[in-house]
Amino acid sequence: MKNLKADLVLLDGKIVTVDEDFSIKEAVAVREGRFLAVGVNKEIKPLIGPKTKVLDLKGKMVIPGLTDGHCHPISLGRVLEQLPLFGVYSISRMTARLRKKVEATEPGRWIIGKAEAWEPETLKEKRLPTKQDLDETALKNPVLISAYSSLGQISVVNSYTLKLAGIKKDTPDPNGGRIERKTVTGEPTGVLYNTARELVWNKISQPFSEEEVKAAVKRAQRAFVEVGVTSVFDAHTDLQEIKAYQSLAKRGELYLRVSLLPEWKVFTSCPDILTETRSERLKIVGIKLMADGGVMFRTASMHEPYLGQPENRGRLYMEPEELRRFVYEVHSQEKPVGIHCTGDHGQDISVDAIVDALKRKPREDSRHSIIHGYFPTSNSLKKMRKHGILYMAQPRFLHCWGESLLKIVGPERANRFKPLRTYIDSGVKVVGGSDAPVVDPNPFLGMHAAVTRKTVTGRVLGPEERVSIEEAIRMYTIDGAAATFEEDIKGSIEKGKLADLAVLDKDLLTIPPDKVKNIKVVMTMIGGEIVYPRSA
Ligand SMILES: [Zn+2]
Repeated sequence: MKNLKADLVLLDGKIVTVDEDFSIKEAVAVREGRFLAVGVNKEIKPLIGPKTKVLDLKGKMVIPGLTDGHCHPISLGRVLEQLPLFGVYSISRMTARLRKKVEATEPGRWIIGKAEAWEPETLKEKRLPTKQDLDETALKNPVLISAYSSLGQISVVNSYTLKLAGIKKDTPDPNGGRIERKTVTGEPTGVLYNTARELVWNKISQPFSEEEVKAAVKRAQRAFVEVGVTSVFDAHTDLQEIKAYQSLAKRGELYLRVSLLPEWKVFTSCPDILTETRSERLKIVGIKLMADGGVMFRTASMHEPYLGQPENRGRLYMEPEELRRFVYEVHSQEKPVGIHCTGDHGQDISVDAIVDALKRKPREDSRHSIIHGYFPTSNSLKKMRKHGILYMAQPRFLHCWGESLLKIVGPERANRFKPLRTYIDSGVKVVGGSDAPVVDPNPFLGMHAAVTRKTVTGRVLGPEERVSIEEAIRMYTIDGAAATFEEDIKGSIEKGKLADLAVLDKDLLTIPPDKVKNIKVVMTMIGGEIVYPRSA
């Protein structure tokens, strides 16, 4: 084998291998899409042949390609085409972005913005935006900007949109929603709560064509590799979306590694699809189920009521019996389930459904997972550890939702929201993800939240639940690979594994925790191919 030369060699770097010992190396060689060797410069240099491309890292840090363990790439792609407002926490910044978008948009066309979560006190102006703010910049386009908040989902629209949707002073509030009105005149302010959004959404929503879905995938994959993500786990995929991925993979246009967790309907209507899709870039892993609602909407199924709503403990989307049946059906097909459950009660029921399936039909290494799991009970944690149930976490929620949660569940529960330390110490494998486009897909923002637990205002929620940066890196690399049964082929920089990596502008291991959010990716590689920056 002594003549085996590398296609590509990276020298003089700080290579964070994320191997068993978390060892740091200096150089790495790549051949035919896989790592040929990792070591010190003098071990790697002999692998340089006449055709080898050599890159000098000049001391920069290299980490394994990152995994987003829970996201919605197609929805993200659509948001990115419109007006993404991730990380925007002031009305002036929002209107500045809107102005640019208006300049690039034909009059009459919709502009749809998506922010993370807004509370009056988390915005610089200490108030929510209204139609006036939008009208100053957008007079000739209908605009709709949505954000989560402790008041539910808020949608801010301009006067053009109100007119188009026929929302006037005397329009009644729809069931489950509210049109905010000025106290004196009763005029709509442009802020719509929860289902009131439908009055507007009805005018916009139309089915997406296959081409639009594919375009969204491509936009999302570009955004992911820019932040070092080389593998994503798309949860709740429908049939049209699966077909779009398949067609892109067939045409060789999918360079991101995509694993799918389709919605239940796909499992019942098209069971063959689960076994037929499996390549290095695209595979269907299991099935997503929904046990309850969401904490920001006060529909997460909780043991104790929501703050100030003594009658409200959220709700289950499925009866425990039905959930057990669905889990068992997927489990019987040798596939894992990923169960969306957010409240402590919803999680108890979900974990029990998995345990029940495993008792009826024992299977080693089944890798079922709990998605979200904000408030695990000690009972759930014990069972998760015992049965190897993974935890799919989205740490940035802590940052974006923290201030809202204090109002929704009170400080005691807000402090133990997404208790990553407790999960890890309980022996549960934690996988990092974003849930983009709910929040920004950038995994360094997720790591920042995991190591600081700081909200948008800088308040720390439950400091004892912080994790170390090493633990955070594992969540987004080797443990992310485990979620798709791929820890033997990716998730670390080791000989023989797929050559997926990211080069960073700063040292992630020594940077102060607060600065983790500023890390920038300078290069991303998937299977030995440099996918960011892209030459073509
Ligand atoms: Zn999600």
